[in-house]
Amino acid sequence: MSAFRCILVSMEIDQILAKAEQAETEVVELTSELIKFNTAHPDGYTDECVAFIKEYFDEHGISSEIHVTDPKKPNIVANLGGQCARTVLWMGHLDVVPEGKPETWTYPAYSGTVKDGSIYGRGSSDMKGACAAAMVSARILNELGGSLPNNVAFWFTSDEEVGGVKGAHWLAESGKLKGDVCVIGDGNGGGLEMPSLDLGCKGGATTRLISRGRTAHGSVPFLGDNALRKLIDVIPFIEKIGEFKLNYPDELIEPVSASIAFVKAAQNLTPEQELAAERLFDYPTVSCTMLSAGVKLNVVPDYAEATFDIRLTPGTDPGKVKTQIESLLSQAKVPGVEVEVHAPARAGYYESPDSAFANQLAGAVEKAAGKPTFYKILTGGTDGISVSGIAGIPSLGYGTSLAGQAHQPDERVSVANLVLGVKVYSTFPLIYTG
Ligand SMILES: [Zn+2]
Repeated sequence: MSAFRCILVSMEIDQILAKAEQAETEVVELTSELIKFNTAHPDGYTDECVAFIKEYFDEHGISSEIHVTDPKKPNIVANLGGQCARTVLWMGHLDVVPEGKPETWTYPAYSGTVKDGSIYGRGSSDMKGACAAAMVSARILNELGGSLPNNVAFWFTSDEEVGGVKGAHWLAESGKLKGDVCVIGDGNGGGLEMPSLDLGCKGGATTRLISRGRTAHGSVPFLGDNALRKLIDVIPFIEKIGEFKLNYPDELIEPVSASIAFVKAAQNLTPEQELAAERLFDYPTVSCTMLSAGVKLNVVPDYAEATFDIRLTPGTDPGKVKTQIESLLSQAKVPGVEVEVHAPARAGYYESPDSAFANQLAGAVEKAAGKPTFYKILTGGTDGISVSGIAGIPSLGYGTSLAGQAHQPDERVSVANLVLGVKVYSTFPLIYTG
């Protein structure tokens, strides 16, 4: 028996859960305050929001550090020392996507309005609510003083919505992330109704079609070679990648069917949407999301470009998808059109459902929600791709988001989900034994 306590007894876990319960007002107020900082892209400035978080940590005697590669986009970490050598990380992002048209919001996007058990505003679900829950968890764990078993580091990053350039990606590449496991606070943990955790997330194979032709006066188009017309002809061929069967490891078969059931249960889908949801992991999803061509009404365009957002299930081979896209282009037989496929070495990431980490995080979620949990895979990407793929730290997701709220007008998060978040984020570091 070591002189150190590497795990707390269950009575102490119950006390922590009670403290989380009592922190309801605090987590609601913090969420509302965080929303009031406009951290939306294209700027994505997090400096004022980070200063607010730093002040909270200072007030509560929690040691924190700011890591910066761009002064307008700092990242902050709260470090709590434990008695054992293991370190548990938590990570969440502070940047948000733009609010869109103001008239689509019932309450202003950066008001942080609290009403009927919900907090409204851009970033409430994705993911300032979870960040507020993590701040409160850091406060609760810090109050344990010297009796904390594992070291714990709560990371709050910038730039997640643009691939983590000055946030998680940079932190991972520059070797600043050190730990044994990481809980990613992004995504939807199913609340009290469908408690679950994400084994990982999908990854992307961004694809660009480039069409070149010859310009001419719009009155004599036969003298030119219309790059836009050619691009339009090729687009349906690239979209056929959505028919390419993906192979993923057997250990993901169950999480995949649970994920599909989750997507179907969490939202009201039409029969066609249900069919699409059933294909969500067995085939790539493909969306032509950007087009650009032409300079003037009466000029035949000599250049056109289209970008495709293609998403792949973790454990599948992006290289095979790239080869298939190239073959689809040659089937189109349109001269002067090229394709560039950015195929990463692996698609997204995932951790094994049989790992001790997965079992112990599931245990924490189960204890907090009072219900059995299940494993699923997130369709969107998270900072976990950098933490797992670059820093090599096993990562699992448990988020406080509500279904269908991320990136939407009238985005909201429920108070119940936030309290649950505090419970999970403050108990898991206490029960993790590796
Ligand atoms: Zn997010």
